[in-house]
Amino acid sequence: MNPPNQERRVVPPEAVDLESPGRRDYAVRFEHPTTWAYYLVPVTVLVGPGAEPDRGLVAIGSTHGNEYEGPVAIKTLLGELNIADVAGRIVLIPVLNASAFSAGTRDTPEDGGNLNRAFPGDAAGTLTQRLAHFVSARAFPHVHVVLDLHAGGRVACFPLLASFHRVADAAQAREMEAAARGFGTPIAGYYQDATPGLLTSCAERLGKITVGGEFGWGEAVNAAGVAMAKRGILAAALRHGLWRGTLPPPQCAPDAQVLCDSSDLGCYVLAPRGGVFEPAVACGERVAEGQTIARLHDFESIDAPALDLRAPHEGYIQSQAWGARVQRGQVVTIVAPECAWME
Ligand SMILES: [Zn+2]
Repeated sequence: MNPPNQERRVVPPEAVDLESPGRRDYAVRFEHPTTWAYYLVPVTVLVGPGAEPDRGLVAIGSTHGNEYEGPVAIKTLLGELNIADVAGRIVLIPVLNASAFSAGTRDTPEDGGNLNRAFPGDAAGTLTQRLAHFVSARAFPHVHVVLDLHAGGRVACFPLLASFHRVADAAQAREMEAAARGFGTPIAGYYQDATPGLLTSCAERLGKITVGGEFGWGEAVNAAGVAMAKRGILAAALRHGLWRGTLPPPQCAPDAQVLCDSSDLGCYVLAPRGGVFEPAVACGERVAEGQTIARLHDFESIDAPALDLRAPHEGYIQSQAWGARVQRGQVVTIVAPECAWME
């Protein structure tokens, strides 16, 4: 257990010890780009007696600073995980982008960078690039499971979902599916792998079992999302022999979980013009091809009827604009067709 009010050891990124047995609670320092100060990123390393080189799990929260379920879940685990129950290596980073988190913003205020577009990063770059480099260069070589916990922030709402990419290696793909199912979310989804600089894409190209997820939205804390985030970390740790313990029951039973695939950009419904977005269906709902999924209102033409936005195909509503005001070209809904689980 983590002693209350414990002072964390302040260290530079290169001094984090991921190999020695035991528990270490660090505040890893990243120099502020302009002020005589450091951002202190909490990193807890637990190494049990059965830890093997290159094998372990890292769980990361607050890659974006205004998403809260991952940080709350990992912060809770800091207090609950007992080193006596840890067999392998578990690395917990509840608040990776400490700068954005303290500002309550998605991106890093100092450089405007989106940390989830900055991987693998650069040790001599901006604050955002240095944070990415710490994870890819320091943490990744010591783990084989990477979990990156997101939420919708102000951008979108989601049915609570675990997400992962299609990868060519069959064994890696099977384990990624198993890790995704471990979160107990009602929906799990494949998603497109075209966006450059993603933490998850960087990890999976290194062969890591990599799962992300969206566990809430609206800059709030979704309690069910917190429970799912926490369970997903423990389920992966248990499956890979890193932790001994009893899993809490899943929020959604395995036989009720649905797998969707939004990899095809034809799943994305873009706003044809700016306006006020009125959803006509709920997140997570199954819709038919051609069904009205939202209406777009133009308040500059108060007497004009709303524009109907329709589902491009049958599938599940995997994401929806959260804020009322949307701009032309914005992804306002993702309709993801169901697909079969590998196992
Ligand atoms: Zn995010």
